[in-house]
Amino acid sequence: MRSSDEAASEPRVTDPLVDAVAELLDASLVALTDAGVLDAMRDVEQAKRQLAAVEHRLLVAADERNLTYHTGAGTLKKLLTQTLRISHPDAAARVAAAKTLGTWHDMAGAEVQALHPVTAAAQADGAISTDHVREIAKVLKQIPGSTANAGFEAAEQILGEAARQVLPEDITKIGRDILARLDPDGTLTDDRDRQRRRALRIGSQRGDGMSPISGEITPTLRALLDPVIAKMGRPGMNNPDDPESPTGSAENTGRDVLDAAARRDTRSSAQRTHDAMVALLSPGVDPAELGSHRGLPVSTILSISVDDIESAAGVATTATGGTVPMTDALALAERALPWLVVFDHAGVPLHLGRTKRLASPGQRMALIAALHGCTRPGCEAPASLCAVHHVTDWTKNGSTDIGNLTLACDRCHALVHDGPGGWQTIVMDSASDHPGRTGWIPPPHIDPTRTPRVNHRHHTSELLATTLAHLHTAKEQSRDHRRWLREQQLQPAA
Ligand SMILES: [Zn+2]
Repeated sequence: MRSSDEAASEPRVTDPLVDAVAELLDASLVALTDAGVLDAMRDVEQAKRQLAAVEHRLLVAADERNLTYHTGAGTLKKLLTQTLRISHPDAAARVAAAKTLGTWHDMAGAEVQALHPVTAAAQADGAISTDHVREIAKVLKQIPGSTANAGFEAAEQILGEAARQVLPEDITKIGRDILARLDPDGTLTDDRDRQRRRALRIGSQRGDGMSPISGEITPTLRALLDPVIAKMGRPGMNNPDDPESPTGSAENTGRDVLDAAARRDTRSSAQRTHDAMVALLSPGVDPAELGSHRGLPVSTILSISVDDIESAAGVATTATGGTVPMTDALALAERALPWLVVFDHAGVPLHLGRTKRLASPGQRMALIAALHGCTRPGCEAPASLCAVHHVTDWTKNGSTDIGNLTLACDRCHALVHDGPGGWQTIVMDSASDHPGRTGWIPPPHIDPTRTPRVNHRHHTSELLATTLAHLHTAKEQSRDHRRWLREQQLQPAA
């Protein structure tokens, strides 16, 4: 359908697009195979994503040609609502996206690199959606102005690359990690600010006997609480609705009893946290003797990299997936209750090579320090929710050597099987970008090429460090290149 008759005869740049869509609307899908339907869904999604990049180009053109003035609309946003009859929020979002992802021109007409170049490239490839773009912009907006430019560039690069593999909602989580690491002593996580805000308000008891609770807790309290909640608030544990639910820390409960109780458990996670607090504060329970959870002591496990200690910056990671600023982590460690795992970037040379099926506590500790959580790409389950698994299954001659052990949460581990839709795991070889890490091979409906991928979710600091290093090298090279060019100009060809 054309909007203006007088231009009907003039060919338009979008004619092939309009024809292709019209054809697809009428095309019969009956003859397609199942794989054909999936392929078509992927192709349409990719085209939609690329069209968003085309929209930026058109918006840039409209603005640079002063169409806002010529049409009388006044602003780009109004031009969009009037011309395309889209909502105000939609128009505002499109203008904002074009400003950060579009390629604009300077006064001389030369192209100016997009403000978020890696994200822009991913969108132009059709690899990320507008939802990804919006989440990335939200994270980048929170980076304090005092952060060095390289920090901003690195964050944009990590998020733009990560978005090619993860869901839009994962971007928020990766962003949170980056923000904690970019500026550990900056405005976002200033310690004095944190201490000032700490509060637990227990409001007055209401007529029905209930009391409201609100407040904000420090990273330290969080690091202490998380392992207790992970253990005592685990599904099936301390359930007041279930007389047969294991109580307290239930050290001697068999796995079968707990699994059966977990299946009967219909509580929300907020209710389980509440019941864990009741269990923790009940007479006769000593938090220091809570025993073990998934084969590890229920105490706070902190992993800190040597680099971070040396620079007296950065954050420690807890086994429950939280972060604790370095100063707080060291203060906690002084009290000796937590396990402090100082982890060297050189890797964990723990080749125990035992012929036992079960991993030793030392191996578990090393895996937590090295992996921080579930290894399946995109999964954010922290180490406290993971069990140790063999990368090559024990029944297929996989050893219980640290090199063949990995962390996976129960849900992800259930995805590894030889049937249809099953994932496979391998150890990434030395030629890969991530040697030694656990590679997950998706089933064909997720990735027809079946390329093994690793999980970056728990390795943000490492990713940030390598990206910064790459950026620095790239800058050096372009400086060298410019110098070389200058020298060539000084020496005209003979
Ligand atoms: Zn998982």
